[in-house]
Amino acid sequence: MRKFLLFSATLPLFPIVMFSQPKGWNDAFPPFRIMDNLYYVGTKELASYLFVTPQGNILMNSDYESSVPVIKASVEKLGFKFSEVKILIAGHAHPDHVEGDAMVKELTGAQVVVGRIDADKTREFRPGGKEHPIDRLVDEGETVSLGGTTLTAHLMPGHTRGCLAWSTTLKENGKSYYTFIECSLNGQFLQVLDNYPGMIDDFRATFKKARTFPVEVFLSSHASFCDLAAKYEKLQKRGPGDLNPFVDPEGYKAHVEQYEKSFEAAVARRETEGAGKAGGRGAGKSQ
Ligand SMILES: [Zn+2]
Repeated sequence: MRKFLLFSATLPLFPIVMFSQPKGWNDAFPPFRIMDNLYYVGTKELASYLFVTPQGNILMNSDYESSVPVIKASVEKLGFKFSEVKILIAGHAHPDHVEGDAMVKELTGAQVVVGRIDADKTREFRPGGKEHPIDRLVDEGETVSLGGTTLTAHLMPGHTRGCLAWSTTLKENGKSYYTFIECSLNGQFLQVLDNYPGMIDDFRATFKKARTFPVEVFLSSHASFCDLAAKYEKLQKRGPGDLNPFVDPEGYKAHVEQYEKSFEAAVARRETEGAGKAGGRGAGKSQ
């Protein structure tokens, strides 16, 4: 989100910038197999994942509506049919992850699974006036299963009130890996977030919770958050015996650390600014 948030940071009173699409985010990225039955089918920045099972496929994140043709082309390039997507799951109620839900539903008939807490916000994204489809609501700890793949939802509130991370297990060369697709820990530009009551406390609890997962394969809703492009390059050059570069427990820990710091810096900035405005809008911990 970095680029568009930097831009929107200059216009904090116009949430409409949340809906503008940063340049380059929808550029195609080569689709590839990450590990086991998990494939990357997202754009250069907006991460979408495809779990391929004998009973059809699970797609995570439709991204912007204009991303859907890019995702579809990636799925087909890998040799799969887009119509084999049976379940579409979401991470959080921001347009760069769920705006394309209606189009995916139209093209595939997939069941659309959304976190209960983010459901109302998700319904607000209606490109072209289309109704936002939601077929199933999930809560903390609930699972989505298809053809031997099971994903578990983890509530990670802050970036949105109902931000959901998803975990599963992938296998490679006889080993099992705890795989974690994080929601978003991005709180470095608080003014563009929802700023619901309790958001700051939620973020802090989420950073604590983030450290409790035994993450081995680390993935995220944004390619840049988990260094996807660099790992993809390494994967192309991987020799026999080399570890899959997506196995990155240390990278995950460093990521949590870095995003906690940038969040706390944003809170401190806002408190300073709020104090300057004599407790005006955007002041401190009461948010
Ligand atoms: Zn977001």
